Amino acid sequence: MADTSNNNTVRVRFAPSPTGPLHIGGVRTALFNWLFARRHNGIFILRIEDTDRNRYVPGSLEQIIEGLKWLGLYWDEGPEVGGPYGPYIQSQRLDLYRKWANWLLEHDKAYKCYCSKERLEELRKARGSGYDRRCRYLTEEERRAHEEAGDPFVIRFKMPLEGETVINDLIRGPITFHNERLQDLILLKSDGYPTYHLANVVDDHLMRVTHIMRASEWIPTAPLHYQLYKAFGWEMPKIAHLPVILNPNGKGKLSKRTQAFSSSGHKVLVLLHEYREAGYLPEAIVNFLTNIGWSFGEDREIFSVEETIPRFELERINPAGARFSFDKLVWLNGIYIRKKSPEELAELLREPLEKAGLRPDKETLLKVAPLVQERIKTLNEVVDMAGFFFRETVEPAPKDLIGKKMTVEQSIEALRRAADVIKSLPEFNAQTLEEALRALAADMSLKAGQLFGVLRVAVTGQKVSPPLFETMEIVGRDRVLERLEKAEKILGQEVEKGADE
Ligand code: GLU
Repeated sequence: MADTSNNNTVRVRFAPSPTGPLHIGGVRTALFNWLFARRHNGIFILRIEDTDRNRYVPGSLEQIIEGLKWLGLYWDEGPEVGGPYGPYIQSQRLDLYRKWANWLLEHDKAYKCYCSKERLEELRKARGSGYDRRCRYLTEEERRAHEEAGDPFVIRFKMPLEGETVINDLIRGPITFHNERLQDLILLKSDGYPTYHLANVVDDHLMRVTHIMRASEWIPTAPLHYQLYKAFGWEMPKIAHLPVILNPNGKGKLSKRTQAFSSSGHKVLVLLHEYREAGYLPEAIVNFLTNIGWSFGEDREIFSVEETIPRFELERINPAGARFSFDKLVWLNGIYIRKKSPEELAELLREPLEKAGLRPDKETLLKVAPLVQERIKTLNEVVDMAGFFFRETVEPAPKDLIGKKMTVEQSIEALRRAADVIKSLPEFNAQTLEEALRALAADMSLKAGQLFGVLRVAVTGQKVSPPLFETMEIVGRDRVLERLEKAEKILGQEVEKGADE
């Protein structure tokens, strides 16, 4: 861990709200903060912003933690690991926010607002532009009357009414806001919980955050945060708003509310756990997300985190919205699958197979892994591609068992003669099978592809499979013979049916 005592240490944070499963955009924010911390030998903090009790979703904190660990984005301070500026869960820090809200009140930087929900609602409808600052200008007497009546209140910030607030965004350059257009936003709610603004500013300060890197949807809140730091007399951390993630077609923001489609028509997944369940590898996701808004240079799209860290400068981040090219992620996932050793891949394939109700044994898995490695783009594809290895029997469709340009009778004969050949092989392996079966095709005046097509469907139950002879070798002589016999029976029944009609 880097030295926290050094004042120059870079300290960044990922500050998710546990309001549901981790969104892939949130993962990108976490990743960029993590990379920046690693680049500067700094500290990556995980802080949980759970002060909006209405939006709290039980279980999401655990999901966030598990998701970050799965991706390898370990934090130096935060839940589970602690740290010098904890607790790192905001609902455990409520006293602090109250203290600082009161400080602002005492220093005339904030005021109590007693306006009812109904009044605010009416204002919203009539003006469409938010709060009219009535309580900012209450007389002493009016204020006292509210206090004596014990009226509930919120605490609002006194925004400067004129002038400009300029945010020097590290990625976007200066962004200017006209203060007269800004609102007196709420800092502390009537239930005593802080809003995001107060809690975020207080914590970033107390946790010694040096750089804020957050989603661009927060840009409108930057002037308030800036003015809050100023009111407290605290130095504001440097700030950068990350590029928006757009749908694959470049139109609109990627969101979990509207289903987006990739250019090849696939449904785009937006939640991290969906990727995990669909058989994506963390390395592929990390590589892919690093490319969204940041570029490695040298036209390289494939690189490891180790290669990224020394290059992770904010100058390489492009402020423009970046497309989420889902098809590219699928392609990258295939590449990372191919980078695995057979042993690693075999282990990874176990889970999807088990989820499909199969019971893969280690020995077979080790043989199957290299056969599917070049052919699958997600781990889950192993089920359709190679599930038959782990099934007692297969159920080929009769029509698929009839070879190309062959009759049912010819196909039956092919199955029978192949079985005879296989039975008489002194040695049963891919090479001996190929030689013997090629010879059989020639002997029957069939093209090799015709015969092999029939055998493939009989042995695997499907028209597409890993290479036939390696497959047969793994399935084993006894089971291959059983499957050929079964296929013959299925076709035999077809013949009988045909005769009955
Ligand atoms: N809790 C906020 C969120 O979930 C954090 C924003 C920030 O990084 O300041 O988006």
